Amino acid sequence: MNIFKNCSAETTAARASGHIDEATGGVSPSIQPSTTFARDSEYALIDAALSYGRDENTGYPVVEKTLCDLEGGAEALLFGSGMAAASAILQSLQPGDRIVAPRIMYWGLRHWLQSFSERWGLQLDFYDPDSTGSLEDTVAAAETRILWIETPANPTWEIIDIAAAAECAHKNGALLVVDSTVSTPVLTQPIKLGADIVMHAATKYLNGHCDVVAGALVFAERDNFFAEVREARIHAGAILGSFEAWLLQRGMRTLYLRVQKASASALTIAKHFENHDRLNSVLYPGLESHSGHAIAQTQMIGGFGGMLSILVDGGEQMALKVAKRCGLFARATSLGGVESLIEHRRTIEGPHSPIPPELLRLSIGIESVEDLIADLEQALDY
Ligand code: PLP
Repeated sequence: MNIFKNCSAETTAARASGHIDEATGGVSPSIQPSTTFARDSEYALIDAALSYGRDENTGYPVVEKTLCDLEGGAEALLFGSGMAAASAILQSLQPGDRIVAPRIMYWGLRHWLQSFSERWGLQLDFYDPDSTGSLEDTVAAAETRILWIETPANPTWEIIDIAAAAECAHKNGALLVVDSTVSTPVLTQPIKLGADIVMHAATKYLNGHCDVVAGALVFAERDNFFAEVREARIHAGAILGSFEAWLLQRGMRTLYLRVQKASASALTIAKHFENHDRLNSVLYPGLESHSGHAIAQTQMIGGFGGMLSILVDGGEQMALKVAKRCGLFARATSLGGVESLIEHRRTIEGPHSPIPPELLRLSIGIESVEDLIADLEQALDY
């Protein structure tokens, strides 16, 4: 009997879907770094799936199975980064295919979507993520292959109604891809709401320790598109190393504890600073003042995530001053680690960024929330 079939997602994550190393009984998987696998004298492989290190890796199945179990997917694929995961989807499209994506999303992917689409002959159109009408009208305007959403969306945390987006995509013959990096399966399971593919920058919460760059896709169906994306991973070589796959499975064991703690602290911090006189606003989907709060309440279960942004009164210079005055928050890009980070997005994205210059993005870690509040209070006390 597989006891893990009836267990909660928290147990599934903590125990990596019940993985025990077959060869040794190890409760932690072994690492197999070999890039090539010997054949016997009859020229047969010992394991038909294992021939060369770019095709398959013994460290992937434990992570991919756990991700499938947590997301309710049929298949999952690991990649060398979140961008590699997204790129494998783009590389599996045909010239002329149309993608519809949000105007506000992780900027690196938005930028890459634009330049890749041009080179690959894809059509790319953007919608306004805080308007359901804009999403629906943009999808319906022409034949669409992929509707891309990111929810909550970097760095203003707009919330997109996943079920409504899935209905819109399917009505128009498109696949819905959800970048669920910030929500994680702890808070939202997009496939259960109708999504076809879930994307994770596993670099962030899934790993959770700022020591692995990785990506993952989870597919609702084991269909032709899944097979094409898998081919893209193999032939474009967008693979994850053996040690990184091992670190990722280790990080995922504590996913629930970390995300629950970060979400609870982020809500406390957002509420504490909501009416601070040095701030013009606090952007967090857990606040009633946030435009996406009502939808977030329905599709984010158990918390609103560990990411929030603050808009500092006095513009870019004051925002940079606050970042500079922080002691506990590390001034660094990225998100989803155990350590809290503060980041001036405009500095990273450049002068053409649509992000307000006074915005500071906070990734809340698992430190004491009182310590984090004290650090921000003293940083704002100038
Ligand atoms: N999606 C989101 C929401 C992200 O925040 C990031 C990275 O910051 C990515 C995708 C890209 O992931 P990676 O840096 O692992 O390539």
